[in-house]
Amino acid sequence: MDFNDTPEEAAYRAQVRGWLDNNAKPKVAQARANKAPGRLEEIIKKSKEWQAKKADAGYACITWPKEWGGGGGTSIQNVIYSQEEAKYQAPAGIFTIGLGMCIPTLMTWGPEDAKKRHVGPAVRGEEIWCQLFSEPAGGSDLAGLRTKAEKDGDDWVINGQKVWTSGAHYSDYGIIVTRTDPNVPKHKGLTMFYIDMKAPGVEVRPIKQMSGESDFNEVFFTDLRIPDSQRLGDVGNGWKVALTTLMNERLAVGGGAGAADYDELLTLARDTELEDGPALKNGAVREKIADWYVQSQGLKYTKFRTLTALSKGETPGPESSIGKIVSAPKMQDLASFAMDLQSMGGIVRDRKLSPLGGGFQDQWFGAAGYRIAGGTDEILRNIVAERVLGLPQDIRVDKTAPFNELPRGK
Ligand SMILES: Cc1cc2nc3c(=O)[nH]c(=O)nc-3n(C[C@H](O)[C@H](O)[C@H](O)COP(=O)(O)OP(=O)(O)OC[C@H]3O[C@@H](n4cnc5c(N)ncnc54)[C@H](O)[C@@H]3O)c2cc1C
Repeated sequence: MDFNDTPEEAAYRAQVRGWLDNNAKPKVAQARANKAPGRLEEIIKKSKEWQAKKADAGYACITWPKEWGGGGGTSIQNVIYSQEEAKYQAPAGIFTIGLGMCIPTLMTWGPEDAKKRHVGPAVRGEEIWCQLFSEPAGGSDLAGLRTKAEKDGDDWVINGQKVWTSGAHYSDYGIIVTRTDPNVPKHKGLTMFYIDMKAPGVEVRPIKQMSGESDFNEVFFTDLRIPDSQRLGDVGNGWKVALTTLMNERLAVGGGAGAADYDELLTLARDTELEDGPALKNGAVREKIADWYVQSQGLKYTKFRTLTALSKGETPGPESSIGKIVSAPKMQDLASFAMDLQSMGGIVRDRKLSPLGGGFQDQWFGAAGYRIAGGTDEILRNIVAERVLGLPQDIRVDKTAPFNELPRGK
């Protein structure tokens, strides 16, 4: 791959930089936005304002057609915009799941009138979406899920429970995968729908995390009634529809963007005095920083492979899983090391007193979840082993038996 911009790409980059200079403030090293109750409303308001501004300028969903509210641009323009926006204070986290996974699934499988009704408002940030996949019995093995949808006249009636649903407490809509036929093997009896999160029969219970925040939820469904027009894809084809979401998830959550990295650690090491002098002069500290520098460079160039595929109009393959296998443990280890360097101060998470405004502490709280969300370390390793390296498949004894004949399917 040629790492330099073509003249057209350079012109686009300059245009994007000009717009960002006029509309956003440059990023300063700081803690991530705390989503504690009270602050959440403010974050949502600011995120919605920023998203609407981007949509007006053609920078929201750059690759999507203009008639859907997108920018009508190329994948490389999208990458250039993301690279430049990352240098500015731009709140966008609350739309990642909706625009990165749910709406692409709706656009691929949804009925025309649903697309007309929902895509534009999502692009403009007026409506927020969540992904209702994981359940107590269906996480890594998503096809083991038990939430039922039963046909009743022209409607479907949904009963069951989801868990770990990020942003369900502030979402307007969600995409949900349900079991519609327990008499066939687990992957074959699933059907997907989209639902109104404010409808009667949907109860959202936020989960309190060790950080004190609530990013995700339990969601309970009691006789939730929805029309057949909210179905995504054919009855029984839900696994294929869910794969569209999961393929997009790999790209949406892959990078660990925004995390503190070796350069923030370098600054901390420069400013920290150990018993035998500045931390930056300590051989063990230098070795750690060098290791994370090497990993960051490896990640950067591995990401270029994904960009190369995108620039050729290809869909990046399972190899993009490598990014998260490396970046998630790196985030966790680096934050933990930075807290150790702060000695007793490492346990203080204070916006004013802690280095990086408590950013290393925030990262440490969040990193464990990042190693699980969007595919655990182990599952991603399985994907790389089986689909990239071509090693023999994991043994899956429950793949062909009817779901209701499996011990946990009853
Ligand atoms: C921060 C965060 C946000 C999330 N947001 C959402 C969301 O918005 N929507 C949603 O639907 N879900 C969400 N999830 C759920 C996430 O997708 C699941 O937690 C994840 O898929 C793992 O499932 P599980 O928790 O049921 O763990 P399990 O699947 O029960 O796994 C438990 C352990 O067993 C290991 N394991 C399981 N199977 C294998 C195997 N075949 N080989 C080797 N090891 C294996 C796993 O790696 C793990 O260590 C989120 C999770 C987190 C942490």
